[in-house]
Amino acid sequence: MLISDRLSRIKPSGVRRIFDLARQMKNPINLSIGEPDFDIPEPVKEEGIEWIRKGFNKYTPTQGIPELREKISLHLRNKGVQFEEVMVTAGVTGGLLLASLALINPGDEILIPDPYFVMYEYQILLMGGTPVFIDTYPDFRLREEELSRKLSKKTKFIVINSPNNPSGAVLPKEDLLMVKRIARERDLLVLSDDIYDNFIFDQPACACMGQLYEKTLTLGGFSKGWAMTGWRLGYVAGPREIIQQMITLQQYTFSSVPSFVQKAAIKALDYNVDGYISEYKKKRDLIYEGLKEKFQVQKPGGAFYIFPEVPGLNGEAFVEKAIGQNLFIIPGSVFSKRNTHVRISFAAPEERLLRGIEVLNRIA
Ligand code: PMP
Repeated sequence: MLISDRLSRIKPSGVRRIFDLARQMKNPINLSIGEPDFDIPEPVKEEGIEWIRKGFNKYTPTQGIPELREKISLHLRNKGVQFEEVMVTAGVTGGLLLASLALINPGDEILIPDPYFVMYEYQILLMGGTPVFIDTYPDFRLREEELSRKLSKKTKFIVINSPNNPSGAVLPKEDLLMVKRIARERDLLVLSDDIYDNFIFDQPACACMGQLYEKTLTLGGFSKGWAMTGWRLGYVAGPREIIQQMITLQQYTFSSVPSFVQKAAIKALDYNVDGYISEYKKKRDLIYEGLKEKFQVQKPGGAFYIFPEVPGLNGEAFVEKAIGQNLFIIPGSVFSKRNTHVRISFAAPEERLLRGIEVLNRIA
């Protein structure tokens, strides 16, 4: 066999048909996109360009340039996050891959609240691990009974993603404290994907696992808050023992991450994005108000997604109808073991959101 056994567990997406249909759409009302609809702030772009011009274009230290690691450390300490060591990664994606490589043995079970960001499932499968899903419907809260039922001797760590992709839910502190109590009892690690931590709408900041529990691996990045998706930059902070192994792994995989981007990221951390967030809060209100009459829907507290249940409880069929009406959204089954919901991204101009809301209500 040419292809490794490892890949035998990685199946092409079951909703490929839908993505094939979507590819044929001409000028769709696209509410499927998982990245901000604003560009990188000008001063951050300028900073990157300036460092390219200055010739800062070589390999950097594997763990990231010291001045950025220092800046990220300060940022996390200001947030009250506990950690011993921090490293810079190629997006949160790169951080997740290194963490999976460093932590997962074949047969290990990893707990993931459902609905979830798809990448977790596939990276775990690639390592020979088993993703174990904790149902959080209908309100996307974590319940102790559900979590406890899924624990076993093989449980290796718990993934937390708040604000969440695809639901936009922000877990209240009491849910995180429950996770901490269970994790501590069993000496489990928590992996906290905080990539949407800038996008919080109803409170000044959200609680995160890293503030509450020292055995947390905190992942963060620049893709969402500063719209740097194509620049591929993130970080991981946590126990030294793990980060050091991840640095070694980065040496043999990515080697290092882009040089000028790291310089620009220092600028980004000083750049206030509150203006963008209040724009996104308006978009959140617009879409929530536009859908709540005809859909069972939770008001998202963060990120830029809303995840309504669809009438008829068949997300894939609903998306096919939407595509027929020139609207592209994603079926919930891409992010879940259930096919009852759809993910709608509100990272889009208001005019497009209004057209999308109109089509959604018509189909419902
Ligand atoms: N985690 C979550 C929850 C995400 O939604 C995304 C991007 N869609 C990522 C990680 C990947 O982010 P990055 O661009 O930093 O690799």
